[in-house]
Amino acid sequence: MALTQTQAKELRHRIDRRRDALLAELREDAARTREHPYAEHAGPAPDSGDESVASLFADLEQADVTRDLEEFRALEAARKRIEGGDYGVCVDCGSDIGFERLKAFPAAARCLQCQERREKTYGGEPKPSL
Ligand SMILES: [Zn+2]
Repeated sequence: MALTQTQAKELRHRIDRRRDALLAELREDAARTREHPYAEHAGPAPDSGDESVASLFADLEQADVTRDLEEFRALEAARKRIEGGDYGVCVDCGSDIGFERLKAFPAAARCLQCQERREKTYGGEPKPSL
């Protein structure tokens, strides 16, 4: 990898901090979901209007958690790449991702060019590149 020891250490530190913060958020989300289950928003005998608001609310909460979970998985993958020694190298083209980009997105697995190409091709959806 093209990163210096100091840079790699700093990025590793950022990943760990972000991972811990996310984990705390996910735990809070889980606790909140237990405290306020879906049925409580809708009430005991919801009319259709209340029900759709409640289901929208549930969907939003679900989406929040999904995004956090995705970021958490990306951070875990980045930790594995650090341990494997291939952190900071683009998984698509093999060139250096660059310290500045990694500082902004410590979980980045691709260089900016490959990331942009991927988002154009797949609309940001993570799909296998076959
Ligand atoms: Zn690349």
